Amino acid sequence: MLNIKVFGIVQGVGFRPFVSRIAVANKIFGTVANKGSYVEIFAQGTVDALKNFLSDLRRKAPARSAILKVDVTELPDENFCDFKIVESVHEVGDIFVSPDIAVCENCKRELFDPNDRRYLHPFINCTACGPRLTILENMPYDRERTSMKIFPMCKSCAEEYFSPESRRFDAQPICCNDCGCETFLLNSNLRGHDAIKHVRKILSAGGIVAIKGIGGFHIACDAKNFSAVQRLRESKIRPTKPFAVMFRDIDSVKRECILTDEQKIFLDSPQKPIVLLGTRDKGQGTSIAENVAPEINRLGVMLPYTPLHLLIFDFPNDEIKNFPDSLVMTSGNPSGVPISIDDDDAQKNFGFCDAILTHDRKILLRADDSVMDFIDNRPSMIRRSRGYAPLPIFYDAPEKFSVLAIGGELKNTFCLAKNNLLYASPYIGDVSDLRTVEVLERSIDRMKNLLEISPEVVACDKHPRYQTVALAEKISKALDVPLIKIQHHYAHILSCMAENNFCGEVVGVAFDGTGYGDDGTIWGGEFFICDEKTYTRAAHVKSFVQAGGDKSAREGWRIAASLMKNFDTARELNLATKNQLDGQKFLLEHNLNCVTSTSVGRIFDAVAAVLGICQTSTYEGEAAMKLQTVAERSDKKFSARFMQTDELFDEILNRRLDGENICDTAKFFHESLAEFTAQICEQLSLRTKIKTVALSGGVFQNSLLSSLTAQKIQRRGLKVLRHELIPANDGGICYGQAIYALNHKII
Ligand code: ZN
Ligand code: ZN
Ligand code: FE
Repeated sequence: MLNIKVFGIVQGVGFRPFVSRIAVANKIFGTVANKGSYVEIFAQGTVDALKNFLSDLRRKAPARSAILKVDVTELPDENFCDFKIVESVHEVGDIFVSPDIAVCENCKRELFDPNDRRYLHPFINCTACGPRLTILENMPYDRERTSMKIFPMCKSCAEEYFSPESRRFDAQPICCNDCGCETFLLNSNLRGHDAIKHVRKILSAGGIVAIKGIGGFHIACDAKNFSAVQRLRESKIRPTKPFAVMFRDIDSVKRECILTDEQKIFLDSPQKPIVLLGTRDKGQGTSIAENVAPEINRLGVMLPYTPLHLLIFDFPNDEIKNFPDSLVMTSGNPSGVPISIDDDDAQKNFGFCDAILTHDRKILLRADDSVMDFIDNRPSMIRRSRGYAPLPIFYDAPEKFSVLAIGGELKNTFCLAKNNLLYASPYIGDVSDLRTVEVLERSIDRMKNLLEISPEVVACDKHPRYQTVALAEKISKALDVPLIKIQHHYAHILSCMAENNFCGEVVGVAFDGTGYGDDGTIWGGEFFICDEKTYTRAAHVKSFVQAGGDKSAREGWRIAASLMKNFDTARELNLATKNQLDGQKFLLEHNLNCVTSTSVGRIFDAVAAVLGICQTSTYEGEAAMKLQTVAERSDKKFSARFMQTDELFDEILNRRLDGENICDTAKFFHESLAEFTAQICEQLSLRTKIKTVALSGGVFQNSLLSSLTAQKIQRRGLKVLRHELIPANDGGICYGQAIYALNHKII
């Protein structure tokens, strides 16, 4: 008899029924059980039968599973006379929780099959699809430990649930039109299909509806209806930040956007992230309203990922015939606060909506939509959340203890590490708001329980005024464990190294908006020589004075004015009103509200302001995104020469004053910054003999800059590490913090 332990994503993906099927097919007797952290099989049969069974186990595993390790030991035979799935017995060990999975093709087919008993059932799911992380209380993954525990199964569902032949054998969220959860409208009597039809009516007439999804509420409206989108902007107080759009299907995506094969794979994957796609030029039959993503040459696009989404787009025999093929689907949250997940919150926040469509399957953990861009035809994760969290990444840690790395202040995600696994949370958001701190604290508790990790070290940023640092201090005190603080940009570089499975020395280039430097100034244009243990700041972009406090992070004209040092030119270029410029001049002359900064993010803001592209950002990264959009309109090539960033800024200013083409100048800026970066890397490499460069920080989300910089560095014979599935922005630094802690034994 063999004892087989299977590690990996083997829970909530139909693994036990699969094992039972291949056991029966191979005439194997024994049992299979969920152990919480792994699946354990006792298998008895002939030598050949066991061999085939083991081979089927690896080759035929369910599509959504991922086997990471199989341990096999031989034991004396017992008296098995059949093959059984036995009750889950919880054991301690590494835990793999499945992320939520988009509705699968089989369920989609049944959803629209009038002869199926789940015809038009908004919660249809199976062992290969449906919610997982967001409805899970504890491991092991069984119905009584999910949001589904309050719904007794009807007779037919129970039969499927207990039948190894069924696609829903052991599918925890199983329900049907006769049992389980139901959709309904808040403040109305409409339920079930009537509620969905009513929502279709409102949306096709240009209305706005809040819709409860997998990981939170969305706010939806017709993406081709300018005034609906405008009303949504005004209600959400979100003047220009791009909205994501959910398209009915791939064909409708292709009418509006350019879709590469690689992008299509991710867009249509079981994770169903938002993918940033290049938009077709106007006049090519496009009709998405201009105010969905103003002045940006790309659009955040996703496909329906729940049965409810499918029914909103297509409801057979409904009176609404021409339902829009694209809906704005933006996270349902007041600005700066995490996405709403319950009806009370929805009631409070979505008063401006014409209807609120909700349901009674409780969301236990928030998970915003994941957002992904593509750089050089490879994915570049911007927000790693629904569909990806909490899949761990492997890191061969020298020390084996568990860590809570609390992450950064903006775009926060946190990370729990245990043994060689780093589990990052879904997206939490910007923790500057106290309501977000609360959500962060609760999410940490939930993930700690779920993954059964009790941190022995807490890691955080060095910033003295981050809320995340205050929370990390509080948690480390409460747990009575050491707290370890890591420089922001070093954490960026470590996260990039970890993602690339790289150990050893690198030249680390961290360009971002802001981070607390070791000398108390603002860093954000850093060149490190570093490894997992330690770092030195080997070079940085020329420091400048950032005057105006928090405002200077949004108002690029302020940075531009101080970089120019000449307020007559600033007035000439109409960078801001006379009063504003006088105010800024006063601050600089009297050294008031001034900090020293090397932030490359702010240099992008300043250049965008000088070129008249964006004086003030209404959302983070707006100026940089618009600058890139403009630069991409230029097809000019430059033979860039080495310039320090201050010289480069002067050159941009002169070109602007000479009336040169704005697109070309924007392109020139990207080329020159890439050249500067590559040359510094080359010099550092010559000095240290290090042949690998790691690029990280939010600025490298700019695909034009990332691509140019990588090319120029590679041309110099150096290897470049970049991000793919871990964000280059602050959403990635929790990994870096965890890795630093794992390399510094302090317990
Ligand atoms: Zn399914
Ligand atoms: Zn049922
Ligand atoms: Fe950063």
